[in-house]
Amino acid sequence: MPLSDIQSQITAAEAAAGRAPGSVTLIAVSKVQPPERVAAVLDQGHRVFGENRVQEAADKWPGFRETYGDVDVHLIGPLQTNKARQAMALCQSIHSVDRPKLANTLARLAQEMGDCPGLFVQVNTGEEPQKAGILPADTDAFVAECRALDLPIEGLMCIPPVDEEPALHFALLAKMAARNGLTGLSMGMSSDFATAIALGATHVRVGSAIFGDRVPPADR
Ligand SMILES: *Cc1c(COP(=O)(O)O)cnc(C)c1O
Repeated sequence: MPLSDIQSQITAAEAAAGRAPGSVTLIAVSKVQPPERVAAVLDQGHRVFGENRVQEAADKWPGFRETYGDVDVHLIGPLQTNKARQAMALCQSIHSVDRPKLANTLARLAQEMGDCPGLFVQVNTGEEPQKAGILPADTDAFVAECRALDLPIEGLMCIPPVDEEPALHFALLAKMAARNGLTGLSMGMSSDFATAIALGATHVRVGSAIFGDRVPPADR
């Protein structure tokens, strides 16, 4: 789908929810997409992208930034502590803060580097054993722990279970953010971003709807 169609759907969803135009940031998730597809979206003026692996982001974005200037890159995938420094240097935002060890590492590096990307705490709203994220019952305490470390927590992020109604998870995440005084909500992907916006999303992460199906590296 053309980028402009996604943008108009976002604008319509903002209006339908009585929200201000431009209150939702579209993160174009470019992971595993061939460079020409990413360049096509850059050529249309879009400057906010999402990646789920630090190494892939490091291979891709310095080159594109040389050509296109400033681009906001949001890390939306799991972050190992030994990649934290590289992620912080490369990304404007990290949506996958999901455990105390990572929070401690980010805090130490933020002090040392004098700067820190905007951070989202990832919540495992579906309590799925294989999925990353803080459990809902532990979220308030973890947000407090991050704040005690002076980390710039902007909001919460979730990836609902594939086989469940996403609206329930979006509503739960919004409730948890509100009770923690957090305004950022990173939720909604290609198939459900309009629902997420109705429930308060401030950042939607849309990949395949913009770029087409992801092409596995081996098949390119
Ligand atoms: C890949 C990915 C997306 C985008 O998924 P689409 O269904 O292609 O829009 C969003 N969020 C996360 C965390 C992802 O890993």
